[in-house]
Amino acid sequence: MFKGKKFLVLGVANDMSIGWAISQALHSSGAELAFTFVNEAIEKRVRPLAQSLGCENVVKCDVQSDDDLTSLAQYIESKWGKFDGIVHSVAYAEREDLKNRFHQTTRKGFQTALDVSAYSLIAVTGKLLPLLTPNSSVITLTYLGSERVVTNYNVMGVAKAALEASVRYLAADVGEQGIRVNALSAGPIKTLAASGIPKFREMLTHFAEKAPLKRNVTLEDVARTALFYLGESSNGITGEVTYIDCGFNIIGM
Ligand code: NAD
Repeated sequence: MFKGKKFLVLGVANDMSIGWAISQALHSSGAELAFTFVNEAIEKRVRPLAQSLGCENVVKCDVQSDDDLTSLAQYIESKWGKFDGIVHSVAYAEREDLKNRFHQTTRKGFQTALDVSAYSLIAVTGKLLPLLTPNSSVITLTYLGSERVVTNYNVMGVAKAALEASVRYLAADVGEQGIRVNALSAGPIKTLAASGIPKFREMLTHFAEKAPLKRNVTLEDVARTALFYLGESSNGITGEVTYIDCGFNIIGM
């Protein structure tokens, strides 16, 4: 399905990352991949994972650094010239801002969460736009906390709301080049980023009890939907937020 296609994946931290599950699915479908890492600690985990797929395309990119974004674009151009899509699976908020009451969110914490988790999609897509082929697909990962209040999600909910709005504006902006931008709103999954959310275990239990499918979402659920959005099966879809949450979002009482 993806033979001869090339995708850049931002946001693999370890083998539990949503970005990694999507990468494995892409690789199994024949795609060639490139990965980024934010710092040395993450690089130590990402390089061996990439190598396990026979991939040597691994490059530093802290999405808060314009220099890193420029180097990333240069790296991709030197390796591939043109390529076919981006998996943006990056988010960050300061721990205190997930633990404290919402009105205590600091200006710096707000800026960091919004910069890493929302602005980065605009910045990455913008930098790499000249290298994306027509029919390219950009996907990002979001969460229900963008539109409903989810305990302890706090500033990250605000960042996800900005991310989802950015998906719509980007989709409208780059659509004439044949490039699509969509968001996947996943139910809670135990990952490194999720471990920063207080009482995450309780969230998983509550979710499985309340969701129509009576179970938690799996990495494979998300990866399969990601393939749909990255491939030509979804050629007519852009600017959408799609729930992969076992139906949790439809439940009122
Ligand atoms: P993860 O910790 O595996 O991935 C988050 C990634 O963001 C890490 O690789 C981390 O290095 C990267 N990152 C953080 N700051 C960065 C920076 N400044 N520059 C570059 N990279 C940076 O966790 P995950 O759960 O796989 O998260 C991936 C995406 O999925 C996130 O956007 C997250 O909000 C979203 N999501 C997660 C869940 C969940 O329950 N796990 C649910 C819905 C959406």
